[in-house]
Amino acid sequence: MPDKASGLSRRGFLAGSVAAAMGAVTGLARNRDDDLEGKALVAISLDLEMSRHYPKRGMMEWDFQKGNLDDDTKKYAVEAGRVARERGGKIHYFCVGRALEQPDIGWLKGLAAAGHPVGNHTYDHVNVTAATVEQAQFRFQRAPWLARGMSARELIEDNVRITTDAMQRRAGIAPNGFRTPGGFNRGLDERPDLQKKFLHLGFDWISSRYPAHLYGKEKEEPTSDIYASIVAAQKDAQPYVYPSGLVEVPMSPISDVGAFRSTFWKLEWFLKANRLALEWAIESRACYDFLAHPSCLVVEDPNFETIKMICDVVKKAGDKAAIVGLDAMARRAKLRRIP
Ligand SMILES: [Zn+2]
Repeated sequence: MPDKASGLSRRGFLAGSVAAAMGAVTGLARNRDDDLEGKALVAISLDLEMSRHYPKRGMMEWDFQKGNLDDDTKKYAVEAGRVARERGGKIHYFCVGRALEQPDIGWLKGLAAAGHPVGNHTYDHVNVTAATVEQAQFRFQRAPWLARGMSARELIEDNVRITTDAMQRRAGIAPNGFRTPGGFNRGLDERPDLQKKFLHLGFDWISSRYPAHLYGKEKEEPTSDIYASIVAAQKDAQPYVYPSGLVEVPMSPISDVGAFRSTFWKLEWFLKANRLALEWAIESRACYDFLAHPSCLVVEDPNFETIKMICDVVKKAGDKAAIVGLDAMARRAKLRRIP
């Protein structure tokens, strides 16, 4: 019976190895974020799209061509990644699918290869809550035939799907999360249908919420009330799980578009507001998700001062904070929900 015995022991050995390997795998899954335990989680997220009024006021054509990135925007996006890396951080990018139609996408592949996560931001920068095709995006107002008879719902779903497809096929990037074009004060709280849609489209977290706060008057230095309102809004910018199971990872005020495009702020005010908000998040061991656009920052913050400030504040905080991708925030929200 030696054969049977050895067979058994071999099976036993194999079973043991499988168990050990599985233990290692689950151990890894459990331990992936162990070094983040008890820390504030800080993300720098940049949406790769063109912005109305940039680089010059009155430029509206980008509304129709959000993904037709200009060279300055791409250069800024790449250099921002290098600046963050150099300081021990990383950037979570969100890519408009149409950018993948451009002749050279080596820059985007390079960012992914350097370890920066890249998420899906729809193909044409569509409003996912739009009720009509025309409301979804300017491009479909000018060229409604592009919708090919689809309903708004179908068009939005198609816009998300083809972005995932384009990212995978052209750049070999599997999207890390989804960010809605435009932020919503209450996220998708009132849209369980959309929550389900995103789960169905393969996303377990999205970033759609941008909490309300005061902006103050155009071109005027923000008063202490404005800064206080931005800091107070951080409580409403914490990740949470929707009843559907989808995780929301909000954007943390104040964004570059809100500060520079809408309110004509100076860079120093933007730095101050974001530093105060970030410091609150670190002291509270909360999450902070800085949101900006290279197409806007390349004009308003050409020397990467905001990204450097965030990296330096986090570094100074030592064990209290870490720079992460939004996916780490989503995992924490999910874990904390489990009783
Ligand atoms: Zn956007």
